[in-house]
Amino acid sequence: METLQMKTPLVEMDGDEMTRVLWRIIRDELICPYVDLKTEYYDLGLPHRDETGDQVTLDAANATRRLGVAVKCATITANRHRQEEYGLKEIWPSPNGTIRAVLDGTAFRAPILLPFLRPAVPGWEKPITVARHAYGDMYKAVELVTNEPGVATLEFTGESGRTQSLTVAKTKGPAVFQGQHNTEGSIRAFVRSCFQYALDTKQDLWFSAKDTISKEYDGEFRRVFDEEFANTYKVKFDALGLQYFYTLIDDAVSRVMRSKGGFVWALKNYDGDVMSDMIAAAFGSLAMMTSVLMAPDGSVEFEASHGTVTRHFYRYRAGEKPSTNATATIFAWTGALRRRGELDGLPDLVSFAGKLEAACLETMRDGILTGDLAVLVEPEHCRQIVNYEESLEAIATRLAKKMHDADRR
Ligand code: NAP
Ligand code: MG
Repeated sequence: METLQMKTPLVEMDGDEMTRVLWRIIRDELICPYVDLKTEYYDLGLPHRDETGDQVTLDAANATRRLGVAVKCATITANRHRQEEYGLKEIWPSPNGTIRAVLDGTAFRAPILLPFLRPAVPGWEKPITVARHAYGDMYKAVELVTNEPGVATLEFTGESGRTQSLTVAKTKGPAVFQGQHNTEGSIRAFVRSCFQYALDTKQDLWFSAKDTISKEYDGEFRRVFDEEFANTYKVKFDALGLQYFYTLIDDAVSRVMRSKGGFVWALKNYDGDVMSDMIAAAFGSLAMMTSVLMAPDGSVEFEASHGTVTRHFYRYRAGEKPSTNATATIFAWTGALRRRGELDGLPDLVSFAGKLEAACLETMRDGILTGDLAVLVEPEHCRQIVNYEESLEAIATRLAKKMHDADRR
């Protein structure tokens, strides 16, 4: 069997702990036997981020803009505890935050469904994809605590020297304040990537916020959605029979619960943070959730939405073989390979990505499950609870058969 050739390298961002262990096996045992894998490798593991003063994270993000497609392993977000554990020079910022700041994108998270993995909401028949705006609002806010009566104002000074100001509140005693912002450019990029993603995946698009209360701030998001839809996307949506609609977030929450799924739900940064965890939990396991960051310039970064699975890693380090589910990490790789194949006109690479995903799903359908899934399914769907190694071996066996069968045809 000939190995599949690639044209442009993927940006490969290695990571930490248990997902780093899975990363190597996925790469060496599932991909490299079939693909002459070309990557530009960036080690975002915490020790190497520390050695490079976090320059490697910036380099990886810039490489993503240059090459267009990246695949990222989960990484530790450093805190004081991790600083002690790894003897870090500094508490480095969240790599995902750094990458988002460079790419300025939208994070799309979608569950991977299995027929016997019933969502907690019985009516959901199709996946719900959460599109989270990844810039600003509470995540770039400034906060102030005061301890005497007084007045707070919101003031903006333009480069022209003109100022605009508003009274936030007159307080009679101790109080707390928060100043949030977003930019029109980032909102527009978010809106466009949501419409484009909905078109690419042929799904309806919902957007919800609270513009009845937040008339200017949330109103601005709604206005840009309406404007982009009317000017650019309505024709394309109509051609595919798709719908865009806006509704208030509280109404949206109850509609989502009563829906059958099968749409993209666009949300502001905080709403998306909260709702994506709710959707992930209701669909089953964190390990069955994919995540892709799409930038306005078209570059994309694929990853799993879970973390480095620290608790499993500590057991691994103690010599055990934890039952870690590699599905979302495998799907990050297949997402990136498929995209690269599409961009470079390599149909065999696209088809390989499909076969690897199918091998993964087939393993689980055959009842070979990691612990996170075993507890969610009816006993008849679980034939064997496996550790990470056995699970990846079972996937490798099924993939080998698919590749062999395809080669003979
Ligand atoms: P986590 O790694 O997502 O794991 C939380 C728990 O969820 C695990 O202990 C495990 O539960 C379960 N789980 C998650 N992924 C699983 C998988 N693939 N297979 C089986 N079970 C899985 O979150 P965390 O423990 O809060 O964070 C660990 C580290 O990851 C932190 O340093 C954090 O900064 C980082 N993090 C990184 C990213 C990212 O890079 N995108 C995202 C989130 C967190 P049981 O232990 O009950 O089996
Ligand atoms: Mg969160």
